[in-house]
Amino acid sequence: PSVLKDGSKLNPDYIPERLPHREDKLKELTIAFRDIVNDPGKSSVRVVITGRTGTGKTVTARIFGKAFAEQVKNRGIKVEYVHVNCHRERTLYLITLKIAEQLKLSIPPRGLSSQEVFKIIHEYLERRNIYVIITLDEFDYFLNSSPPEDIYFIVRLYDELAVNVKRVSYIFIIRDLTTLSSLDKTVRDHIARDIIEFPPYKSNELYDILQDRVKMAFYDGTVSDDAVKFISDINGFDKGGSGNARLSIETLELAGRIADAEGSPIVTVEHAKKANSRLNEEASIILDELNYLELHPMLLVKALINLSKREKKESFPIGEVEDEYSRLCELLGVEPRRHTQVFEYMRRLKLMGIINTQQSGKGMRGRTTLLSLTFPASQELDDYVTKLIGALKN
Ligand code: ADP
Repeated sequence: PSVLKDGSKLNPDYIPERLPHREDKLKELTIAFRDIVNDPGKSSVRVVITGRTGTGKTVTARIFGKAFAEQVKNRGIKVEYVHVNCHRERTLYLITLKIAEQLKLSIPPRGLSSQEVFKIIHEYLERRNIYVIITLDEFDYFLNSSPPEDIYFIVRLYDELAVNVKRVSYIFIIRDLTTLSSLDKTVRDHIARDIIEFPPYKSNELYDILQDRVKMAFYDGTVSDDAVKFISDINGFDKGGSGNARLSIETLELAGRIADAEGSPIVTVEHAKKANSRLNEEASIILDELNYLELHPMLLVKALINLSKREKKESFPIGEVEDEYSRLCELLGVEPRRHTQVFEYMRRLKLMGIINTQQSGKGMRGRTTLLSLTFPASQELDDYVTKLIGALKN
């Protein structure tokens, strides 16, 4: 026997019916897209959704898209929603094929350029009088890895296509807005018109999200309230957690499986704790990634560890990290790398999931990039990195 009634409801791809604590974001999206209702074809709407992993960006965009298409249908406007993950579809060409596929358009297997595929898509929309909202999820990857002309093409679509009726609108999901700062202003202005921020979830918000899943996925009364509270508290952003709903749901699921494995008819707080520490162990896989770093990126990680331990804070202005890095270089007797190179290392550390970056908010003079480690700066980590640095230096 299992405590789970329907495990698929805990699957990361499952789209729930309600989104507790994202109702306001759904409203903001509806407002952002009102032009499609009021004056279809007049403008190509662009909205950026930004926020950390597990803050509901993907699921909110999907639910919005479906609901919006449904809602405008009643007014006789045809809208299709298309969702493409740029981490999976890594080039402009693959992205355009994916869009065509989701519109159920068949494209000849070879010989066409991305531009030509887009033209076919546009003619199809024109013929059927359809508008399309395209979400480009994990758009950071596309921006970081594509040639400027591809970025230019996709975001400036209507300068290229020279058509009167604008049928394509976008939602760009960008984890880290600093990615935009490296872009040309004209391109940036086509992306960042309307920015909706998704904050990390607080513990009471995670609690509500988890309770919904408990009802859908588990048999009545098989999950103790303490277990749900424990998971929400450990992950709640207001309690020092990452505010990540994905990780919270994953922990709930694993707790259920552990309860099953132990033959327990109820998921207790002990099961939740075990699940949590097992997932933390998985996070240690990230540590393996550290093994592949060269000396200078490693020194940047060490600089962040030093600062975290010294100042008991989580994130630091990039300038402070660089100062600490230079100090470390001096100690080791190596020449520090130049600023631009350091920037490039940070970008790579971010792509590897080792550091996070964010913009400083109000209250700090000027705006600056803040860096943080994606894992706690524990003593073990410090020892490990110090050992690796020693090895790299020789
Ligand atoms: P992101 O795209 O920001 O990384 P996702 O949209 O993939 O986050 O959400 C991660 C997981 O958490 C998904 O399983 C999603 O269904 C769930 N989730 C996130 N926010 C909510 C919410 N407000 N209510 C219910 N489930 C949520």
